Amino acid sequence: MSSPDELRPRRRPTVSVDVGGVLVGSAQPVVVQSMTNTDTADPDATAIQVARLAHAGSQLVRVTVNTDAAAAAVPEMLRRLADLGVAVPVIGDFHYNGHQLLVEYPAMAAGLAKYRINPGNVGGKRHDENFQTIVRAAVEHDKPVRIGVNWGSLDPQLLTQLMDANAATASPRDSRDVMIEAMIESAMRSAELAEETGLGHDRIILSAKVSRVRDLVDVYRRLAARSDYPLHLGLTEAGLGMKGIVASTAGLSILLDQGIGDTIRVSLTPAPDGEREEEVRVAQQVLQSLGLRSFLPQVSACPGCGRTTSTFFQEMAGRIQAHLRERMPEWRETRPGVEDMTVAVMGCVVNGPGESKHADIGISLPGTFEDPVAPVFIDGRLDRTLRGAGLVDEFIGILEEYVAGHYPDPEAPVRA
Ligand code: SF4
Repeated sequence: MSSPDELRPRRRPTVSVDVGGVLVGSAQPVVVQSMTNTDTADPDATAIQVARLAHAGSQLVRVTVNTDAAAAAVPEMLRRLADLGVAVPVIGDFHYNGHQLLVEYPAMAAGLAKYRINPGNVGGKRHDENFQTIVRAAVEHDKPVRIGVNWGSLDPQLLTQLMDANAATASPRDSRDVMIEAMIESAMRSAELAEETGLGHDRIILSAKVSRVRDLVDVYRRLAARSDYPLHLGLTEAGLGMKGIVASTAGLSILLDQGIGDTIRVSLTPAPDGEREEEVRVAQQVLQSLGLRSFLPQVSACPGCGRTTSTFFQEMAGRIQAHLRERMPEWRETRPGVEDMTVAVMGCVVNGPGESKHADIGISLPGTFEDPVAPVFIDGRLDRTLRGAGLVDEFIGILEEYVAGHYPDPEAPVRA
């Protein structure tokens, strides 16, 4: 049987880039990455946040390297991560002074798994020289590079040059079109210069981030048609809360469904008391909803309606979702395949039994005026009925039994 990834239409094959042991591109599953928002000069805080992001499932984590103090702290931060038993590859994000920092702090340059360079932020007059200095550091330390163009910091000289050339034509294109072309040109010219400087073709990943969904789709479609470098996708400055999640999901989904994109990040602005890991969960959910990868058992819950007079089933669905999320870090290691499990929590008899039968394990709660019993379905068959105050705990117990019985621990000793 074909895997979801095999079924996915792809642009012409990309090369595969090894980022600290994580392969990005070619036929590899789409990689989820994230970025810290701690001060990298604080190795403790940064190591803890990197560990949390990795624990949530981020396969690559990027940190800002913006100052001497940040650059000097990177090796210590990596040591602390190793002490925590976290082996996630860490990427350095450089702007303006990357050419200095990567030369002056060789331990930092050697410890990072990849460098992200924004060609619009490597220096005006000495642009190419600074860019090449960064590339030489990558060659020396055998690191891949992401050439990450961002429309908010697009190379002004290049944009002016393309705008002037466009204005001189008989029928000029609109400025949005020229801006998209400038982003692609910036990425492609930088990649060419990087290869001329000695970086391997299979050591380059490209991105061209914008903050509007339609622009994102257009720029990546054109970029995908122009090169076989793996592409890092993300809507930059996606924004807060629901807007950021919906806009990122919309943009990423269109592109991923066309086989464009080899690694993704969802750039959410966290609420002041929010968790940074949210961006990892959203990225995973995008991939899982598209059927491209599985990360967490999926809970189907009905929205509720006039047939339910309480929020009991919503609370139950929430508790089950939280339980699955809590158990997943351990199950990921000990219960392979559990991420494909489906669970249904339904509010009444109308769709409850049907939906529950379609799930691996499901429960149909009683709606208003129904008998106060909740049938539980396992693998499509009625298994038992539950009732009373301890119903949620009982169902979670059944769920645990189901996981233990259906997803055996490959490391568990075999009984004679
Ligand atoms: S399953 Fe029942 S409670 Fe849930 S939305 Fe459908 S009719 Fe309403």
